[in-house]
Formats: sequence, C-alpha cells, structure tokens
Amino acid sequence: VKKLGKNGYRYYSSDLDKELLDRIELEADLRKAIERNELLVYYQPQFRAEDSRMVGVEALVRWKHPSRGILQPGAFIPIAEEAGMIFEIGTWVLREACRQMREWHVTGGPLIPVAVNLSAQQFHQSNLVNYLLNVLNETGLEAKYLELEITESMMMDAAVSAQTLRELNQIGVRISLDDFGTGYSSLGYLKTFPIHKLKIDRSFITEIAENDNDKAIVSTIISMAQNLNLDVVAEGIETKDQLDILTQNQCKELQGYYFSRPLSAQDVEKAFFIPLRS
Ligand code: C2E
Ligand code: CA
Ligand code: CA
Ligand code: CA
Repeated sequence: VKKLGKNGYRYYSSDLDKELLDRIELEADLRKAIERNELLVYYQPQFRAEDSRMVGVEALVRWKHPSRGILQPGAFIPIAEEAGMIFEIGTWVLREACRQMREWHVTGGPLIPVAVNLSAQQFHQSNLVNYLLNVLNETGLEAKYLELEITESMMMDAAVSAQTLRELNQIGVRISLDDFGTGYSSLGYLKTFPIHKLKIDRSFITEIAENDNDKAIVSTIISMAQNLNLDVVAEGIETKDQLDILTQNQCKELQGYYFSRPLSAQDVEKAFFIPLRS
C-alpha cells in the first residue's frame, strides 16, 4: 500500500487501487468524525395504523462528510465495524438519540420512545446495563422511552443473550427484534426471551402486493406476534397497496418512505409536531 502508484505496481487494477485508497481515506476521516461533530442522527417516524398517530421514531446515523456530503450508514458502518469504531459511534448515537428525545419530551413534543440500533459489540459488552443506565441518567430520559433494536444473529449464544435481555428488562428499556424473519435462529426463543416487539423486515414488504408467499409470511408473523402478545411493526412501506395489505392483516404499526423518510430532528418537528412552541 505504501508504494501505491510506483511503476512496479502498475499491473494492479487501478480501480482496485482507487477503491482501496478511498476506503483508507474514509477510515481515516471516520476516526475524526466524532470529535469534529460530523455525525448526525436522523429520525424516521413510526405510525399507528388505527389513528395515524406518530408513536415512535427510529434513530438512524448519518455522516456529514466534509467533501462527500451526507453519507448513509451503508457507506461507513461496515468500515466502522471492521476498524473497531462501531462501539464509539454506537455510543454517540445512543446518547444523542436519548438527549434529543428528552429534549422533545421537556419542550412539549410527543411523549414517544426512540428506537436505537445496537451493534453486536454494544450488545455483547459485559457492562451493557451500567452503560445504558449511565446514558439514561446523563440524558435524563426515562428507560421506558428507549427501545433497543437487536437482530436475531446477536442471539446465537442463547444463554448469554437471555441473561442480557432479562437485565435490560429489569431496567425498563424495551427490546425490538429487527429484520425479523431474515435470521437463522429458531422461533423457540420468542417464548422465553423477554422481547417486546417484532420488526418485520423490509424484504417481505417490498413485493407484498405482488407476491402471495410474502403476503402469507407477513400475515403469519403478525398473527404470531398477536398470539405471543408482542407488538409488531412493518418497515419499508413505500406504497398505498402495501399499506392496505398490512392494515387488512391487522399490522398495528407502520414505518416507511410512504409516510416519511428519515429526517433531521428539526425536520421531524416541522413535519410532525403539532405547533407547540410559538
Ligand atoms: P435498519 O435498522 O434495517 O434500518 C432501516 C433502513 O431502511 C434505514 O436505512 C431506512 O432509511 C431504510 N428505510 C426505511 N423505510 C424505507 C422504505 O420505505 N424503503 C426503503 N428502500 N428503505 C427504507 P439506513 O438509514 O440507510 O440504515 C441502514 C442500516 O444501517 C440500518 O438498517 C441499520 O442496520 C444500520 N444502522 C443505521 N444506524 C445505525 C446505528 O446508529 N447503529 C448501528 N449499529 N447500525 C445502524
Ligand atoms: Ca433498525
Ligand atoms: Ca430493519
Ligand atoms: Ca435491515
């Protein structure tokens, strides 16, 4: 890598060189992004089907890169994971999301929870509960307004996960199983693990209006959730047809571009808060 560009290395594809350089540069930039205040949290509203009220938001990280503009997580979360920076980024997002939510609560905004995506590294850290209690304490957010989104793949070690989830329950945060249906774990844990919500993965929603198998899977997940007393939210709804099928199947909560893209905190206030601070 050091000698990149020297004659002797010309036989490497220059596309590869460029990709590699790009990646190295991005990684170096990312190391400075937090202290330079370049990370942002966007919020995507979630709505209750019954009355169309906003009942929650999901926090989604963005990076306002100095020269590349606003980057989506797909462009830097994998780098952060490989380079050991995901923990730091995740912690920043968690704190910022809790801070923002508390600010909304005390300034007359809706009393809704924020859902934060937890990386595997965060979920598996040994003092997760103390770490969360610290963040809640520092930001003043009540635990019941924090929902942690975890994925099935994080629960491979069932015994450890069950213990962690029990502790999280004890402090009062809510647990949502993200990308539900795409993992490999068995359904057995749903009866023993203290989970509050299933998030039906977007891959089942995308073609739900055309694909009867997808429709059957989604309808089954919704009734299963109901029978197990779990909340259920569908993500990635983009069309009225998709929405109609989901409401026909009694899906209670909805999230997707059809309602709103992820927005800056300010834009969420503008678009979805009833005028309060005049
Ligand atoms: P996810 O947790 O499954 O988040 C949902 C993703 O779907 C978001 O992409 C959201 O913008 C997108 N989305 C929402 N509605 C629609 C829709 O109607 N159509 C389509 N096509 N997409 C929709 P985003 O923000 O690019 O995030 C991608 C992934 O990055 C997230 O997937 C999550 O796994 C990860 N991520 C985002 N923020 C964080 C974070 O703070 N920490 C960690 N560990 N991961 C994060
Ligand atoms: Ca998520
Ligand atoms: Ca998801
Ligand atoms: Ca996903």
